[in-house]
Amino acid sequence: MTPDIIVIGSGFGGAVHACRLAEAGLAVLVLERGRRWAPDDFPRGPDDAWIYDVDEPEKQNGWVDLRFLDDMWVAQGAGVGGGSLIYANVSIDARPGAFASGWPAPITFDALRPYYTRVSEMLAPETLPETQLTPRHRLLREAAERIGAIERYRKVELAIAFDPNGRYPEERPPDERATKTFMNRFGREQGYCIHAGNCDIGCKAGARNTLDLNYLAVAEDKGAAIRPLSVVSHVASEGRGYAVVYHELKGGAASSGWHGPREW
Ligand code: SF4
Repeated sequence: MTPDIIVIGSGFGGAVHACRLAEAGLAVLVLERGRRWAPDDFPRGPDDAWIYDVDEPEKQNGWVDLRFLDDMWVAQGAGVGGGSLIYANVSIDARPGAFASGWPAPITFDALRPYYTRVSEMLAPETLPETQLTPRHRLLREAAERIGAIERYRKVELAIAFDPNGRYPEERPPDERATKTFMNRFGREQGYCIHAGNCDIGCKAGARNTLDLNYLAVAEDKGAAIRPLSVVSHVASEGRGYAVVYHELKGGAASSGWHGPREW
């Protein structure tokens, strides 16, 4: 395929672009530095592929890229779906006041409001059903009531699939893979949340609405190609277009080395 569009990265920015441009009929290629993760290979043990090292991705191309800056630490997901792999699925709209200053004039809450709605249609955030409140959640609500701060308590929207008929903890299976499954509206199989609390390190129940299961699924169904383990080294203008140079990593952490470079 000769792409019309090359999208670098498959996180929230890249996934939305890949989806909408593929829907518009353009040939889209997505280059993603990390792996395509599946429930059976999410990291769990100390020897698993946890760390993505930007200096040596051929040796360490695991789950998360940690950056230690002067006054903050940043954790970035590495893989098909980018940050959606590790953001604990918390999907809260920004408050209108957040746009009061510091933004270009066209960026206002009212201007963005329709897009929050569109994103919600894809990520399907919902709040924890009353029938599935965990003991910790009940305690938090009780504590808020007791200190007279119940107005500060609220459930947050989570991009997680909750079984509409589920009850906690009676129907919590001991094994994440034993959850009830369903087909999401993009034709990808998911499971319902069993409250295992592993949202940041990959949900083996498949309950998280990560980007690979919605925006990127649509993009692929519309013909987009996603290339995991493809590390872009530079983009240069060339003639009337651009050259995108990238390296393909060979497999996972066990095998080190590069293919490439390749160029478009
Ligand atoms: S099953 Fe566990 S890891 Fe999966 S979404 Fe629910 S709480 Fe998160």
